[in-house]
Order: sequence, then C-alpha cells, then structure tokens
Amino acid sequence: MSEHNDRPRDGLLERLERGPVICAEGYLFELERRGYLQAGGFVPEVVLDHPDKVTELHREFVHAGSDVVEAFTYYAHREKLRLIGKEQLLEQINRQALGIAKEVAAESGTLLAGNVCNTNVYIGKESNAAVRRMFAEQVGWAAEAGVDFVIAETIAWLGEALIATEVVKEAGLPAVVTLAAHQDPAMRDGVSPAEACRRLEAAGADVVGLNCARGPWTMLPLLEEIRAAVSVPVAALPVPYRTTEEHPSFQSLEDDDPHRGDLPQGRPFPTALDPFTCSRYEIADFTRRAHELGVNYLGVCCGAAPHHIRAMAEALGRTPPASRSSADMSKHYALGTDASLKSENQEYAEKL
Ligand SMILES: [Zn+2]
Repeated sequence: MSEHNDRPRDGLLERLERGPVICAEGYLFELERRGYLQAGGFVPEVVLDHPDKVTELHREFVHAGSDVVEAFTYYAHREKLRLIGKEQLLEQINRQALGIAKEVAAESGTLLAGNVCNTNVYIGKESNAAVRRMFAEQVGWAAEAGVDFVIAETIAWLGEALIATEVVKEAGLPAVVTLAAHQDPAMRDGVSPAEACRRLEAAGADVVGLNCARGPWTMLPLLEEIRAAVSVPVAALPVPYRTTEEHPSFQSLEDDDPHRGDLPQGRPFPTALDPFTCSRYEIADFTRRAHELGVNYLGVCCGAAPHHIRAMAEALGRTPPASRSSADMSKHYALGTDASLKSENQEYAEKL
C-alpha cells in the first residue's frame, strides 16, 4: 500500500509537509439523500443499521481521491443519543463507526481519522466539564481504534473548540480543528475566526481552519485572514452550495423559484438545497484558489458527493482511480469531435 514499505507510513503532519491532503466529508447529507439517515436529528444510526452503506461511501470517497477516511461518529455523541432516546448505544455506535473506517483506511493505505463535533450543550464556561466529558469518551474510543489523528469540527464556540483541542492533545494525537462560521462569521464567544484559529494553534492544534456552514465563495475571504494569522497548516472544507454575500451560510439560503414546492420551514436547508449545488468545476476552481492562498488541508463538507472530491483531487494535479471515468465529451455522438462521428449528428448539436 505504502510507497515506502521499509518504514512506517507517514502520518498526517508528514503528508502535509509534502503537499496538500484531501479529506472527504459530508457523510450525513449523502447518506440522508440515499435514504439511510434522518434529517433533523442527523444521528448516524446507519453505522449500526446498514454498516455496508457506510463502508461503501468511504470506499467511493477514497476512489475519488480522499487521503483520509473519517470515522462516521459525527453527532454520535451523548447529547444526540439522549435526544433520540438511545444513549445506551453510544459506545457501540462509536466503536462500530471507527471499525468500519479502519477497515477502509487499511485496505486503501489512507489515513484514519476520529471525529468529534459541536456538542450543542456548550453555552459558556459553566458547561466546560460536561463538554470535556463528552469529548473525552469519544476521543478515548478513537485512540483505542488506532486513529492517525482526530478531527474536531463544525464548532462555533472558541471555548468549546479549545476544550476539544486539549482533549485530543491529552490523548497524544494530532488535532485538526475546524470551526463553523455562520452568517456572522464571528465565533459565538465574540472572536473572529482568524483570532480563534490563532488561539487554537497556541493551545496545540496541529491544523486549524473552517468547515461546513459556508460555501466556497463566502469561506474564501475568511481563509485568507486565517492563513495570515497562524503558522500551522490551514484547513478548508466548505459546503458545496452557492452561498452569497446576502446569504453567506447554507442555512440562510432562500429559494424564490415559483416551482420550488412546499419547503419544510420555508427554507432550502437542509433537504431542498439541490438547486444551489456547486458543480464539480466550481469545486475545482475553489480548490485552486484556496491552495494558492496556502491552504493545504482540503475537503468538502455537507452536500459533497464523490464527483466533488475527484474534481478537488484533479485540481491539485492528481489522478485518483475515479479519474478513469472523468468526462471526455470528444466521444459524444453530437457534441463530440471524434473523426468517426456522423456529421449529421454534429450538425444537429445546436438543436439538442
Ligand atoms: Zn457539514
């Protein structure tokens, strides 16, 4: 699997020194679309109910160019399981998700990442102890599974992100900490994303940056500020949706199309975002621009599908296995240019 069979394979930080690392995310949304996960609570019970579907999606993202298999423990935390009345499944769901990801990472030679996220119980210092306990139990299971590093993600409070960083570092693992910047990009405790990342770096985070919430074009300006504020590698994993200055987050997008149908709660988020989806070419463009800014840990969050990850890999000059089926329109019967094609069809192309 490794290029260097005579020595241990490189970890995340060694790979980041050599060049960019791609981490596919977006498991919640993709498995929701496929009919195996319920929007709203967004609890990944699918890892117990249909483990083969999670394995398959990990493999699809690796096929498309992901360097990392992230265990699907997003929202598999105590508060979410309490909310759905299944707290007794907490350890089982975490260990199962880690086992599924470990299998795919091992067979493909990719990195295995553990994961924690916003607890939804953090409201300031008074919640520190409860939040720390939640992170500690999940990070403990990840460490026991032998993860290469832990991702703490979609956190909108600096205070909460600092606790996650401390817990991961106490476990002796590299910490990738990505914050969620909502409509007002400031953290909920008031500091800018750049200042928050600077303080996470000081607390020992190995990679800092942003994921989720914002699409490529409303995340990019914040990334530039973060890149200037820290010296560790910077991460960028936007959602693949066309967010705008007026609606900078995917939760705030509005759909005025007369045929949009009856949207639950009147907004496209989270189940009617399809018309705002970025094409693979937009993701490629974002990848190039983010990489030019010095962002080296790249991925796509909620809404990502394998074609987005392939576009990201190809924009970085790679040819993952999925590139074998990247588009070649020269062979299209009417729009193509191959010498063997019938001119009658090529002349009809404008009428298609
Ligand atoms: Zn997301």
